[in-house]
Amino acid sequence: MNPFKFIWAMFFRLFPCPVPVGLRRIGNPDRKSPVLITCNFYLTVRRLLRKLRGIDAWLLIADSKGVNVWCAAGGNEFNTHSAVSVIKISSISDLVDHRRLVLPPLAAPGIRAKEVREQTGWSVNWGPVRAKDIPHYLRAGLHRNEGMKRVTYNWHERLDTALGTLFPFFFLGAMGFLVFARHLLLDYLAVSIVTFLFFFFTCPWLPGKRGLTKVLFLDAILGILLFVFEVSDIQTNLSVRPDLIIAMVMLLFYGTELGGLASNMPSDLDPFLARLGIGGLGNVAFAGTIRTELLNDFRVLRYYRDACIGCRSCAEVCPQGVWHMDKEKRVVLAHIEKCPAFLACLVQCEGGAIKAE
Ligand code: SF4
Repeated sequence: MNPFKFIWAMFFRLFPCPVPVGLRRIGNPDRKSPVLITCNFYLTVRRLLRKLRGIDAWLLIADSKGVNVWCAAGGNEFNTHSAVSVIKISSISDLVDHRRLVLPPLAAPGIRAKEVREQTGWSVNWGPVRAKDIPHYLRAGLHRNEGMKRVTYNWHERLDTALGTLFPFFFLGAMGFLVFARHLLLDYLAVSIVTFLFFFFTCPWLPGKRGLTKVLFLDAILGILLFVFEVSDIQTNLSVRPDLIIAMVMLLFYGTELGGLASNMPSDLDPFLARLGIGGLGNVAFAGTIRTELLNDFRVLRYYRDACIGCRSCAEVCPQGVWHMDKEKRVVLAHIEKCPAFLACLVQCEGGAIKAE
């Protein structure tokens, strides 16, 4: 393990951390072994290799500009061209007898299964969302249960995402306090960590759908507390007032980001920055993507039932279970309220039944 790369990939995930593109042997693969594709982000490859211990497989590492699967696919860095290129340059077709690829479903907004099939002759099987389920999925003959298709965003996933995306801002804040208000540095560190942990552990139970709404609720409570301290002039040995203000500002940061540059909640940050004309930050694209336009209400997703050919692609790649098949073998929008504008359905639709207009 390269410790510098690990720390960079872990805490500065907004920025790329590439590994070489190409073919890797996992265990002792033969001509029947499964072929998996992933991105070339250091942390993804490292975690995947760990989960695949004891499995014999071929792993194709495709170019995603050193960015994780979800962000790279959403920003079109991990796309059909990446997949087709690595299939061709690796000569994997000479090493196996089958033509079945296993792709991470979170790559579905970038890699179009139909085009991969047409350009290479390889069919795409969408694997489990989480790497830890891959061994089970492979042993089950490429069969996924419902749980393997859905994004959960539980507390440790929230913590992992938050650590990776918020650390640079936290670090910059600490530098600011160190230079301009050294006497408050310890307050800043303590309050930031406490509010961070509180918010990310309680997030699902806070009112509101978006991160910003959730933190405004908490900020309102802290604002009332601050007001009470001001008007009642309560004397205390603790520096409560600056702490409350730091907590309110930090919560605003956490909530705005929560959109989870890579989560299943709509981001507040990307539409906001897109309105300011800011195109991207690190590896995350804000302006000019259909997702941003959807979140800004410049476009809507429409479903044309008559054009649906019942290929199931949308239902297979939606991480939230928005689409269901009906008795006539066409899809219905069963849970539109869960749609995070992920866009995998739009990219994968083989019948042209889903359109962004
Ligand atoms: S991807 Fe398009 S054509 Fe296929 S089932 Fe969904 S809506 Fe129908």
